[in-house]
Amino acid sequence: VAKLQFPRHILHVDQFDRTHVDRLFAHARAMRSVAKIPGEGRLRGHILATLFFEPSTRTRLSFESAMLRLGGQVISAESADITSSAVKGETIEDTVRIVESYADAIVIRHPKSGIPDAAAAVASVPILNAGDGPGEHPTQALLDLFTISEELGRIDNLTITLAGDLRYGRAPRSLAMLLTRTDGCRVILSTPAGIEMSEDVLASLSAAGVTFEVEPDMVVAAAQSDVVYVTRVQKERFPSEDAYQQARGSYHFTDLHLAAMKPDSIVMHPLPRVDEIAGNVDADPRAAYFRQARYGVYIRMALLDILLGSGGGTIA
Ligand code: ASP
Repeated sequence: VAKLQFPRHILHVDQFDRTHVDRLFAHARAMRSVAKIPGEGRLRGHILATLFFEPSTRTRLSFESAMLRLGGQVISAESADITSSAVKGETIEDTVRIVESYADAIVIRHPKSGIPDAAAAVASVPILNAGDGPGEHPTQALLDLFTISEELGRIDNLTITLAGDLRYGRAPRSLAMLLTRTDGCRVILSTPAGIEMSEDVLASLSAAGVTFEVEPDMVVAAAQSDVVYVTRVQKERFPSEDAYQQARGSYHFTDLHLAAMKPDSIVMHPLPRVDEIAGNVDADPRAAYFRQARYGVYIRMALLDILLGSGGGTIA
């Protein structure tokens, strides 16, 4: 197969066409057998910087774990909103001009949409968007679709329910946009009034020929679905406390929903969970949300290896 040029920065889901997705997933599968040997590995001598201006557990540690598993090293500014020079008024552009002297790639999470783009515009090293406010979370969407692929054996011809806070959740937004790269998928939007998926995403789905429908009853949605993707109410992004209080606790995925689901289906969640999935769902083999985190390490290993490894930004 001919080598495929990969995007230089990972900023938006729409940078990936189907060929990128298929090749990335094949590479992520190969990453499963990469053994972590201290002092050795495909990215030995490379340094990854993680700059997080917003809370995170999974995304930061998962990128760091991925880099370490490849034999690279990591420098990290967590809580950069409090501890970095941003507090002194430094722009992201200046921060990036400095950090690129220290690292070969920079992972950025920021509460403001578009900040990773601003960073990429001046950066001489790859920038990876690890979540920009209510905007996008492209590596999450890639690992979500990879989870579906590994758990169900395909990414086409599936019925996928996106449930919960679809307005402020960047994870379901990005996943919906990535589903435009699949064939024959049907999306069910199961969400309370006020936090529905925004028009721009619906327009992308329509333009790509992905059929979608609204079904506020999560039991009815779950009964038809191969995947139910539950999300958290994004408390930190609501315009007012009142609006948040209205949405809070308005949906719960329980054993009732599980009972309605097909035996060969899965329940996913980008995590963290607050109270939107009952604890007794966890023991069911269809609960895939903790396994999702492991798939995330393979996807991030694959991305870092493509961006920084010997292929020089291409993938075989
Ligand atoms: N961890 C995901 C994100 O950063 C989902 C969430 O926070 O609800 O977008």
